[in-house]
Amino acid sequence: MIAAILATIPAILTKAHKIMFISALFLCPVCGTENEIEVDPSAGSRQKLTEDCQTCCRPLILKIEISPDGDDADVEATPENE
Ligand SMILES: [Zn+2]
Repeated sequence: MIAAILATIPAILTKAHKIMFISALFLCPVCGTENEIEVDPSAGSRQKLTEDCQTCCRPLILKIEISPDGDDADVEATPENE
């Protein structure tokens, strides 16, 4: 019983945290597949991240620009070793 309650708490915290994130789509410049990332708007309106493509696993540099209303993010992806 106690174990079940403890297991539920982190799940609730994760869900609440996720609402703060913006989902953004970008096309992988290597294989052309659409990828989805979650952007944390509180980290700044312009961000630079490195993410692996979910399909071809190539590291990509993502330049992210959050819209002024904070609802949307623009993502520009370039291969890391270019
Ligand atoms: Zn790819």
